[in-house]
Amino acid sequence: MIARISLDAVRERLFDYAVPAAIAAELKVGMRVQVPFGSRTCCGYVIECIAAAERPDIVMQPGLFGDEPATAKGRLRHIIAIDDPLPFFSPQLLQLLRWLAGYYCASMESALRSALPAPVRDGNTKARELLFVCATPQTEEHLKADSPSAIATQKLSARQRDLLQQITTRQGGLLNVLCRELKCAPETLRRLEKQGYLTIEPQQIRRDPLANRTIIPSSPLPLMPQQAAALQLICGGRHAVAADCGRAGLSETAADGCGEPSLPFKAVEPPVAAAAKAPLPVLLYGVTGSGKTEVYLQAIAHVLEQGGGAIVLVPEIALTPQTVRRFAGRFGDKIAVLHSALSEGERFDEWHRIRAGEAQVVVGPRSAVFAPVKNLALIIVDEEHEPSYKQDETPRYNARDVAVMRGWIEKCGVVLGSATPAMESWENVKNGKYRLARLALRAEERPMPTVEVIDMRIEGKRDGKPQIFSRRLIDTIEDRLATGEQVILFLNRRGYATSLLCTKCGFIAQCDSCSVAYTYHRTDSRLRCHICGACHPVPPLCPACSDPGFRYAGIGTQRIEIIAQTCFPKARIARLDADATTRKHSHDDILSAFRSGKTDILIGTQMIAKGHHFPNVTLVGVLMADAGLHIPDYRAGERTFQLLAQVSGRSGRGEIPGHVIIQTYTPDHPAIVASRTADFDSFATQERELRREAWLPPFSHVICLTFKGPDEEKVSFAANAFFKQLSPILPNGADCPEPMPSPLARAKGDYRYQMILRGSSIRSITRPLHKATRLAPPPQGVSLAIDVDALSIM
Ligand code: ADP
Ligand code: ZN
Repeated sequence: MIARISLDAVRERLFDYAVPAAIAAELKVGMRVQVPFGSRTCCGYVIECIAAAERPDIVMQPGLFGDEPATAKGRLRHIIAIDDPLPFFSPQLLQLLRWLAGYYCASMESALRSALPAPVRDGNTKARELLFVCATPQTEEHLKADSPSAIATQKLSARQRDLLQQITTRQGGLLNVLCRELKCAPETLRRLEKQGYLTIEPQQIRRDPLANRTIIPSSPLPLMPQQAAALQLICGGRHAVAADCGRAGLSETAADGCGEPSLPFKAVEPPVAAAAKAPLPVLLYGVTGSGKTEVYLQAIAHVLEQGGGAIVLVPEIALTPQTVRRFAGRFGDKIAVLHSALSEGERFDEWHRIRAGEAQVVVGPRSAVFAPVKNLALIIVDEEHEPSYKQDETPRYNARDVAVMRGWIEKCGVVLGSATPAMESWENVKNGKYRLARLALRAEERPMPTVEVIDMRIEGKRDGKPQIFSRRLIDTIEDRLATGEQVILFLNRRGYATSLLCTKCGFIAQCDSCSVAYTYHRTDSRLRCHICGACHPVPPLCPACSDPGFRYAGIGTQRIEIIAQTCFPKARIARLDADATTRKHSHDDILSAFRSGKTDILIGTQMIAKGHHFPNVTLVGVLMADAGLHIPDYRAGERTFQLLAQVSGRSGRGEIPGHVIIQTYTPDHPAIVASRTADFDSFATQERELRREAWLPPFSHVICLTFKGPDEEKVSFAANAFFKQLSPILPNGADCPEPMPSPLARAKGDYRYQMILRGSSIRSITRPLHKATRLAPPPQGVSLAIDVDALSIM
C-alpha cells in the first residue's frame, strides 16, 4: 500500500510513501505520521491510501521487508511512525479540504493547516496532568460504615482521621487544592498514601474556558408562530428535498468549485449520489430581535436528541462571553468553544473533547467550520453576511460557503441566519438553491425602532460653524438621560481625528509605507497608521511648509467621547473600540458595566453594532452614516445598509420602544433611504438591479489578483506580463481589465497592483488562471495573492 501525504514542511505538492506491513492495519486516512524527508524527519497527514497498482510507474522489488514499491529512481521511503492513534481528519473533512484547496487556489497543506487550531497542530501543547488524591475503597468503607474504630485501631491521629474524612466527603481532589484548603503539607497526604489510605495519581485535567463563569441554565421558550415555522423547516425538512436536486444543494459559489489543478492530484467531485439526501440550506432571514437565536437553540436541541452534533459559527467580534453563555446555559457541558482568545491549553483540550465526542456542540469563529464534530447534523452560520467569515490570508475561504459545502458532503442541515442577508444568499433563495424562513416580527411583539434621518448639510451648521452633533440628537440624548434610559453612539472610525491637515498648504500626514493618512490618537498624542500599525509623534510644524497651523480633520471615536463629555457633563460615558480593549478582559468589562447600567452612553465602532442585547437602550445615534459609503468598492452600499440595520437593531430591545437617529450628508443614498424603514427587500431589489447591470456578484464570480512588492516597477511589470499571458486564453464571457494600482496602492511598504477577473463560473476562470501562473510566475520580490470570491477589492 502507498500513502499519499501532505507534509507540514512543503506547500506545493503531496508525497507518496510506502506503508510498512507492521502499521498497515492501523493506518487510516487523516492520521498524522512521521516520515523521512531528505535527511530529516518530518510530520505530515495521510490524505489518501492507494494500492501500488494504481501508480503505473511503480514496480515491486524484493526488499528488507518482503516486496516493496519502487520507481525507476529507487524504492519509496517508508512511513516511520503513526503519531496519534486517532485521525485528525475524517474522510469527509478531507474531501471538504480538497475541495477548498481547489476552489480557493490554495495548497492542500494550507487547507489542512487552517483546519487545525495551532496548539493541536504544533505538537508542543500537551494534555494537562495533575496529581489527584482519592481515598481508597477500604478507607471509604470504614468511614461509611461509621466504624471509626476500625481506623482508630490503626494508630491514626485525630488530625489524620479528620483529613481522610474530609477527602472522602469531597470525593477526592487535586493535591495542591486539597493542601491549600485543608491546610496540610503534601507530605502528610503522601504518608497516608504510603499507609494505603489514599491514592495519589496523575489525572488528565481539562482546561475549561468557562470554568470561572457563571452560567445560568435556560430552558426552551414557547415559540412564536413564525419561529415554530422556521424550526419546522429546519428540522422537519430533512428529506423533503427532491431526489434529483443534484448540485442545487450548493451555493452558487460552492456549486461550480469542484477543484482545479493547483493540486498535484485530481481534485474531487463530491459524490452526486450523496446530494440526493442532503437537505437544502435554510436562509433564516429575521429582523433584529426576532428571536433567531432561540430558533438555533431549539434546532440544536432537536439534533442532540437524535444523537447528532452541531456547529455554530459566530463572527469573531460577536463571539463574546455573553454569546457563549447563551449556548452554555442551554447545553452546559455539551458545549465546546473554539476561539483564538482562549489559552493554548484550553484550545487544545476543547478540540480533543470534540474529536473524542465529549462535546457535541461547537461554538466558534470561522475556523470552527472544520471542527471534528461526531455525527455532524447541523451547521448554523449566524450573521451569514459578515465579511469576517472570509479569511484574509491563504487559503482565502469564506466559512459561510465552506459550511454549505460541508453540509452537502456530510448530508447535514445548514442554517444561514441574518437580518440583512448577503446579496449572494438572497440570490440563492431566488433561484431555489436555499429555502427561506422568515421572521418578520420582533419577539414578544416589540415594535421595530423608529428611524429618523438628519440631513447634516443643513442641521450640521449651528451657530455658523460645522457641528458633529445635530440639535435634534443632543435634545433626544438629554431626554433619554433624564428618564434613565441608555444611549449608544456609533461611529465606525476609531482614533481622535482621521487625519492631520495643514490649513496653509493642504499637506496631509501620510504613512511612509502605506498610501493612507495617519489617524491622530489623542490619548498618547500620536499618529497611527491603521494599516501597518506605524506610530509617530505629531510634528510641531507642517513638514511641507513649516507652518504651525495643523488642524485635525475628520472625527474618530476618541474625539466623540470628548465632545460628548462636554455636551453631557453629568452622563457616565464609555468607549468601546479596538483601542479601548487592549487590556485583557476590558472588552467584557466595558460591556458588562453598560449592561448593568453603570454607564449611560456607550460610544463605539462596529464592535458595539452586532449581536448585543441591551434591553435598556432606547436610543441609537449614528454620527456619520456616510463614513463607509465613499470608498471605491462595489459593496460599499450593501455594507453600509447592513451596518445601519445592525446598529439600529440595538435600540428598543426591552419594554420601551426604540428610536434611531441617523446623521448623514447623503440622505438620498439608497442605502440610507432603505435604512429609514429597515427595508431589506426594497434595498435588495434595487441593489440587485445595479449588480445585474454591472455584471457584479451574485451575477458573476470575481477573483481579485493582487501583485505586491517593494519595487513598484517590478510589480507593475510582473502584473502586465501576467496579464499578457492570461487575457488571450480567457474563455468567452470572462473578463479581465488591464492591471492597475489597487485603491490601497501601497501597504506595509509594498506597492500593490490589482486585476479583477470576472467569469460566469469560478471553474471557467481558475483554469486559465492556473495556466498563466505557470507561464508567467511572479519573479523574486513580487508576490501574487489570489482572492477567489473576493469580498473587498481594496
Ligand atoms: P435576534 O438574534 O434575532 O436578534 P434574539 O434571539 O437575540 O434575536 O432575541 C431577542 C430577544 O427576544 C431575546 O431577549 C430573547 O430571549 C427574546 N425571545 C426570543 N424568542 C422568544 C419567544 N419565543 N418568546 C419570548 N421571548 C423571546
Ligand atoms: Zn502604514
